[in-house]
Amino acid sequence: NYVKLSIARLMEERIEGRILTMLRFLGAVGSELGMPTYIVGGFVRDLLLNKTNFDLDIVVEGNANSFASAFKNYFDIKIVEHKEFLASSMFFHDGLRIDVATARTEFYKRPAALPEVDMSTIKKDLYRRDFSINAMAVKLNQEEFGMLIDFFGSRNDLARGTIRALHPLSFIEDPTRVLRAIRFEQRFGFEIEVRTAELLKNCVREDYLDKVAGQRLRDELNKILLEPQPLKAIRRFSTLGVIEKLFPGVVFDRQIDFAVEKYFLRRPRNIGYIGEDRVFYTLMMILLRYSSNEQVQWNIQRYGLPRNFLERLKDARENADNISRESPERPSEYHRMIKSKKAETLNFLNSQLDDERDRSFEEYLKRLKGTKLAIDGEHLKRVYGLKEGPEIREILDALYCARLDGLEIEKEDGFVKNFLRMEGI
Ligand code: ATP
Repeated sequence: NYVKLSIARLMEERIEGRILTMLRFLGAVGSELGMPTYIVGGFVRDLLLNKTNFDLDIVVEGNANSFASAFKNYFDIKIVEHKEFLASSMFFHDGLRIDVATARTEFYKRPAALPEVDMSTIKKDLYRRDFSINAMAVKLNQEEFGMLIDFFGSRNDLARGTIRALHPLSFIEDPTRVLRAIRFEQRFGFEIEVRTAELLKNCVREDYLDKVAGQRLRDELNKILLEPQPLKAIRRFSTLGVIEKLFPGVVFDRQIDFAVEKYFLRRPRNIGYIGEDRVFYTLMMILLRYSSNEQVQWNIQRYGLPRNFLERLKDARENADNISRESPERPSEYHRMIKSKKAETLNFLNSQLDDERDRSFEEYLKRLKGTKLAIDGEHLKRVYGLKEGPEIREILDALYCARLDGLEIEKEDGFVKNFLRMEGI
């Protein structure tokens, strides 16, 4: 009882030639070995959505490692075997990567009360997946090339824009699916189906997220942060009660919401001035702005943040307070407060500023990028006879601040002369 539908024509239209040829070849190798061969998961979902996806996840009903070895007879590939999962990754010279897995039939450990149903191998493999939209397969063997296999109403859910868990214990088996549900919902503009949302909320309420390794959560969070609109996902986290569970002590109030919003809005611009910050790190600074030391420490442990995170956060909070108290205007004023801060701290500080202050802050970042001194310590020693010592640093700092505020590069020497005269040197 499943939908079988040929999408071979659609595949010919939508998949680029090189990949399509490869899919046919995969099917041919499978047939040669007597293994039913499928492409599954995100690739199939995106194919139906008419989006490009280069994640080639192949499932074979047979030994995937033998499949990969057979493939090596035809292509000069590198194979990495994942023995414990009976899976292999195949790497081609042009950067293409194909993952082959043996159809997995065993389920997660679960209460014995549930009936064991007799299912075909590929169906069991698909049933272990997160959501219906990710649980389709397309057969690749020649005779049935392009046969879409849909056991769970996936096509319907895709058409209606629904994220649906495949069974009631889905989130409890793997709570990272909470984050995945929100990621897919936001990415595609879909909606988590009502019952699935209940299951999700239940999983969150009952603290199942606590049972997941911090690194896995961090990986899923990072994937969300790479999406075009992470703010929407973070807000959804908040309404589903996920933030409080992931980051105990964080109250996602209007102030923090506003800071996160400003961060994501200004970040692309700031990259042009100061390079990329690590989004997870900056976001943690913003979220933990008002948390206690104990709470910060807890998050450092949980998510494997660097040990000096707390120190840097404390320092950055102080900077933020100073900026808000002293309202710097000129680039040099900013510089005196926050020179040589890392991109994460600068973005954190920026997120705390309203639009008006953002203008002067942006000007500072712009100047920071565009300003390089023409003269250096050697020049000061050679031309002005200065001796090695703190004086040189002091003069260069003052000169740099003057340059930030608009002093032209040709006037550096004039500035130094004046400075020395005024200091009586
Ligand atoms: P993306 O487009 O972001 O890569 P994807 O659906 O390809 O999305 P992956 O994380 O690459 O996501 O996973 C590939 C496939 O593996 C998914 O489509 C899904 O079928 C399955 N999968 C991944 N993670 C889980 C999980 N936690 N639980 C169940 N199935 C999963």
